[in-house]
Amino acid sequence: HVKSSGKGGFQLYTEELGQALRFRREIEEYLRQANFDQELYLVFQPQIDLHRQRIQAYEVLVRWHHSGQDISPNDFISIAEDMGIIRHIDRWVLKKAIEQTQSWLPDDTRLSVNISAVEFNQHDLIPYIKKTLDEYQFSAKKLELEITETALISDFKTVYTKLKELNDLGITIAIDDFGVGHSSLARLKDLPFHKLKIDRSFITEIQSDEKQKSIVKAIVGLAYYLELDTIVEGVESQQQVEILQALGCYVFQGHHFSKPLKSNEALLFSPSKFKNIILKDMPKSRNV
Ligand code: C2E
Ligand code: MG
Ligand code: MG
Ligand code: MG
Repeated sequence: HVKSSGKGGFQLYTEELGQALRFRREIEEYLRQANFDQELYLVFQPQIDLHRQRIQAYEVLVRWHHSGQDISPNDFISIAEDMGIIRHIDRWVLKKAIEQTQSWLPDDTRLSVNISAVEFNQHDLIPYIKKTLDEYQFSAKKLELEITETALISDFKTVYTKLKELNDLGITIAIDDFGVGHSSLARLKDLPFHKLKIDRSFITEIQSDEKQKSIVKAIVGLAYYLELDTIVEGVESQQQVEILQALGCYVFQGHHFSKPLKSNEALLFSPSKFKNIILKDMPKSRNV
């Protein structure tokens, strides 16, 4: 009896593994053939500064529509990284994001673009960014890059130099998914970046989970002493907003405020329109 159930479990396991592998192969194949201009598109999710009652930035998120279905970035970004084609995707995204928003994006609002750790470590990333900004006459002050802790673990001097150069250009740097990666505090304290993006996993149960609250409180404290800004991602309810505000957070991104929008919808989501929504639905921040 023990044997047969063990064997059944093993079969189930190999079957799942086989399925995952087939799925991966399929994605690889699709990616190799993908025509970016036809299959990729962008959505923009507002990042809201409740103190200043304005949209601070729009995060640019890539979408992939392949033969009638949408494939999630969670399912293809890491594969694209392994295949060595993430650089083409991230560069396409940067270019198109600027192209699609430059006619309406206000001067004091940034585009926040995700840069894979693999792409961040490419030698020609900065020249590409410079060239693209030049080409569209897009101010570096309007560009923010979201990188994960993984991007920061290679040789300290190389990472430092790269961040410094981006800083000097006027580009804002945020650490995405902060708290779930592998960076050391010793290293973080010496690196030039601007912002911690508190990972969604720390706020999902913040209404009831004291430990999540403690973690967010600790991150906010860390940010305060290191003179960094914070933003919370994945905010889905008013209750979360209130708890997070009490903990000292005031910049938010999440479905509670807006889902990621197509450029023509994001444009209508103007700060002045949005102001009313905030004023109507939000209590005044306790920190103002
Ligand atoms: P991320 O950078 O942490 O982006 C936030 C993710 O959370 C997005 O998922 C967004 O749609 C989702 N999200 C926003 N608000 C909420 C909310 O209230 N609740 C929940 N449950 N989710 C929310 P998405 O668009 O599926 O992207 C997943 C990940 O794929 C991103 O995580 C990012 O790491 C990566 N990604 C997306 N676009 C790009 C890109 O152009 N380049 C690179 N390198 N990675 C990208
Ligand atoms: Mg991001
Ligand atoms: Mg994130
Ligand atoms: Mg995340």
